[in-house]
Amino acid sequence: MAISASLRWQIFSRDGFKCCYCGKQPPDVVLEIDHLVPVSRGGTNDSENLRTACMACNRGKSNNLPSSDLLNQKPIPVENLEEAAEQTAQFCRYLEKKQNEIQRLTTLVDQYWRMKTDNASLDPKYLSPFIVRFGLRAVIMAMDIAINQNILDGRYVFGILRNWRDYGLPSHLFSNDINIDMEKS
Ligand SMILES: [Zn+2]
Repeated sequence: MAISASLRWQIFSRDGFKCCYCGKQPPDVVLEIDHLVPVSRGGTNDSENLRTACMACNRGKSNNLPSSDLLNQKPIPVENLEEAAEQTAQFCRYLEKKQNEIQRLTTLVDQYWRMKTDNASLDPKYLSPFIVRFGLRAVIMAMDIAINQNILDGRYVFGILRNWRDYGLPSHLFSNDINIDMEKS
């Protein structure tokens, strides 16, 4: 009987999306499900009989012997796999939410820049990491420094931010409450 997509997912999750024989992970390898006892010899689709293996190891094209620690571990029962899968899903939703929030803040900061300077947008690819690192207030402060000096060039703003990243925030400009709390928003 074919292995269902959800069972594949559970086995891959249990084994950490890693080949149990050689330890390689996507995108270096394509993962498959290996039957410890082959189906042809009566092996079942019970989770205890299934291992994550890369294509090369699974099809015997690799020299790796099935002796890794992972293989000696007692497999996790399926009830726990469901819980692990649910936690993985929750974690993905959390990351997605966080990503959306970073995007929202980046747009806000960029709007501030365009409003004050009539200039083109700042590249979110460069802007977002600084927002994550310093928070809104510090990034806007860097923009204000550029605006006050009438250097209305995004590259100057990023130069200031890079200086702060490499040499530390100037303490005279900031109190210690500049970091936004992503959890609250
Ligand atoms: Zn492998």
